[in-house]
Amino acid sequence: MTTKMPTVKFTKLFINGDFVDSISGREFETIDPRTEEVIARIAEGSKEDIDVAVKASRVAFDHGSWPRMTGVERARIMMKWADLIDENAEEIAKLDAIDAGKLYHFCKAIEIPSAANTIRYYAGAADKIHGEVLKPAREFHAYTLMEPIGVVGHIIPWNFPSSMFVTKVAPSLAAGCTMVLKPAEQTPLSALFYAHLAKLAGIPNGVLNVVPGFGPTAGAALCSHMDVDKVSFTGSTKVGREIMCAAANSNLKPVSLELGGKSPLVVFDDADLDKAIQLAFLGVAYNKGEICVAGSRVFVQEGIYDEFEKKLVEKAKTWVIGDPFDSKVQQGPQVDKKQFEKILSYIEHGKREGATLLTGGKRVGNKGYYIEPTIFSNVKEDMLIAQDEIFGPVMALMKFKTIEEAITSANNTRYGLAAGIMTKNLDTANIMSRSIRAGTIWINCYFIFGNDIPYGGYKMSGFGRDFGLEALHKYLQVKSVVTPIYNSPW
Ligand code: NAD
Repeated sequence: MTTKMPTVKFTKLFINGDFVDSISGREFETIDPRTEEVIARIAEGSKEDIDVAVKASRVAFDHGSWPRMTGVERARIMMKWADLIDENAEEIAKLDAIDAGKLYHFCKAIEIPSAANTIRYYAGAADKIHGEVLKPAREFHAYTLMEPIGVVGHIIPWNFPSSMFVTKVAPSLAAGCTMVLKPAEQTPLSALFYAHLAKLAGIPNGVLNVVPGFGPTAGAALCSHMDVDKVSFTGSTKVGREIMCAAANSNLKPVSLELGGKSPLVVFDDADLDKAIQLAFLGVAYNKGEICVAGSRVFVQEGIYDEFEKKLVEKAKTWVIGDPFDSKVQQGPQVDKKQFEKILSYIEHGKREGATLLTGGKRVGNKGYYIEPTIFSNVKEDMLIAQDEIFGPVMALMKFKTIEEAITSANNTRYGLAAGIMTKNLDTANIMSRSIRAGTIWINCYFIFGNDIPYGGYKMSGFGRDFGLEALHKYLQVKSVVTPIYNSPW
């Protein structure tokens, strides 16, 4: 195995344009999931640090230049930031690879350049934010203003550290907001690097603050802060519920929640079999299954089921697991020990519940958090492995007969993030896409994201949309202005 360790340059909190120690002086370790060794010690933000960061953000919003600039001026700085990210793609990719076990070459070629493009997309929208002139119902002239919502608290998970960072920050910056972002405690490294580049690009002090720390301390303080105007969260459904409570019990700040999933991939008899197998497998193996829209429940129609199962297992056996810096490797380690143990315990549970383990199920090697892609058949819909989000490379494979059965089964989940449909029949595709209660439906494809494609959940997968102009609007609010045209007694 090759082990290229990048130099970690930024380990402190980024507040008001400076890297600073935490007030308590405490630090926490971030661990390399390939080696289980410490990469760096990071300043641990707590309630007091969040308070300082929110104050800086408040001043930048109430008195600073960022919300008062023209959209074109904000866009110019954001574009510069995106260019700096492209120039530093290699270094950022290394940080995400050692911090999250992500594939280095993929990050460098795809994820980091895509993150830069997300910033460009929203920079392009920054000067197109406007209200409406309303048709006066009476002798009044009325119009709306679209104003930035204020100080935003962003809380993100660890599975896509770069993509999550820009998905939250870019639209809120374009809207003219100021913000405090808490990265996941497992993956603070690239977030701090992005903050450094933001400063170089000219984003004014206090506009973007990054405070690494833990959820119940730093994260909770952000959500219950009386001076935070909105919280935008991506993470688990359990924490999403706590965030909503904290918002309700403090200043009633609006929240948007991108939460968990247990997405179905439904394969009909007439599907392109090879493509269906490829997508079904990637559905749980891509990013080691640490993706909220993993196609972790696969329903296959009975006519092709046996062949599908056989070829799927063959496909799994060709999958290359190992050091994410190796260009031949297709799957790196799970993000941390907790996640690794959680996945293995679900696998044990699946066996105990009576599902058939077709392939995988074990740790790979004896160092690092590597797990084989795992496929269960004979899964009953009420089994835990068919209901709970495992967030690892574990598939529950099930058989169905009719389209009605497929609809009922696909919707038999508390989640509603995404779904895939594999069929050549247009009627089948149309019926399925309208019947499944999920925020994204992929027909004959999977994992297709785009800056202009709104993305988010139905049901307990949350509410609010990332990407697209929908995301920009999460960070804006409407003000109505009314003035008389004639002398008015009112
Ligand atoms: P998590 O909910 O445990 O943590 C996410 C973030 O919330 C972290 O930064 C964490 O420190 C913080 N947090 C934890 N407790 C908190 C609290 N009480 N108050 C405020 N913040 C708190 O989730 P995770 O295990 O890091 O990530 C995996 C989960 O994220 C999965 O459920 C996955 O589906 C979900 N996810 C969803 C999407 C999406 O777009 N819908 C994308 C990626 C991940």
